[in-house]
Amino acid sequence: MHTASSTTAALYERVRRVIPPVEWPVFEDDIEAIVALKRERNAVILAHNYQTPEIFHCVADIVGDSLALARKAMTVDADVIVLAGVHFMAETAKLLNPGKTVLIPDLEAGCSLADSITAEDVRLMRSRYPGLPVITYVNTSAAVKAESDICCTSGNALAVVESLDMPRVIMIPDEYLARNIASQTAVEIVAWKGHCEVHERFTPADIRELREAHPGVVVLAHPECPPEVVAEADFAGSTAAMSDYVGRHRPGRVVLMTECSMSDNVAVAHPDVDFVRPCNLCPHMKRITLSNIRSALENNRHVVTIDPEVAAGARLAVERMLAI
Ligand code: SF4
Repeated sequence: MHTASSTTAALYERVRRVIPPVEWPVFEDDIEAIVALKRERNAVILAHNYQTPEIFHCVADIVGDSLALARKAMTVDADVIVLAGVHFMAETAKLLNPGKTVLIPDLEAGCSLADSITAEDVRLMRSRYPGLPVITYVNTSAAVKAESDICCTSGNALAVVESLDMPRVIMIPDEYLARNIASQTAVEIVAWKGHCEVHERFTPADIRELREAHPGVVVLAHPECPPEVVAEADFAGSTAAMSDYVGRHRPGRVVLMTECSMSDNVAVAHPDVDFVRPCNLCPHMKRITLSNIRSALENNRHVVTIDPEVAAGARLAVERMLAI
């Protein structure tokens, strides 16, 4: 049987490449408490790829992108889900797991994309472009999803657009994702002006400087980056696709044009790959800490609720996507 300290010592082995020994004692107490609380409450922790390594590798039970998290949560026998990510992800987890208690450790963990559009905006777009189907990126509130015909992720957006068999569609709210997809299809895409505040900061000049400073580096970009950035990259794909690319191709040196913590989390699994790390942090993702995860489990907060009518509409849009 493991004592508490041997448990945390084993966990440290997972992250020693990305967390210096001097920082580890700061995390130990919360990790031990969280491990115990998960058992007591029959809880699981879902952590997005952009969470810091002490959360992602040491207390999470399920990791991945937002949709993968919600879907995998459907398969676990747990009473409580703690979503280590941002609010729209907690809502998506609740949509797909209506019978479970879903907690978000900080209610202020938002998203510039989700905050760029409201349900009313979607209704206005529909009246401006009558008859066009509305495809909504999962990075939106349940209320916006409920006004949509179908959802998409950055991984399946092209397939969703082409599945509708329409010459013109509305895709909200990420302008850059819409433009990146438009460059791969004959379908005309009407976009919204939402941007991810992390990915919009990358520029083609950043990539050129990285290539000069690190000859031979392979550049992977998230499709929430501006199209000019994607055009300069060697590969563009969702967080899951980027992680998969590193595993399959094992480049000697790689840079991920996405949120900072993603490189740390992928690096843990690939000690043979050299990660160059330009650092753009998502301030919303970073609101989640070990300490507020612990507090969420201790105090059962903050419980995510969705109006039943909104939930029914939003679930339908997500399920249509899952059926493709
Ligand atoms: S990284 Fe961008 S899309 Fe993801 S939560 Fe942060 S602001 Fe939203």
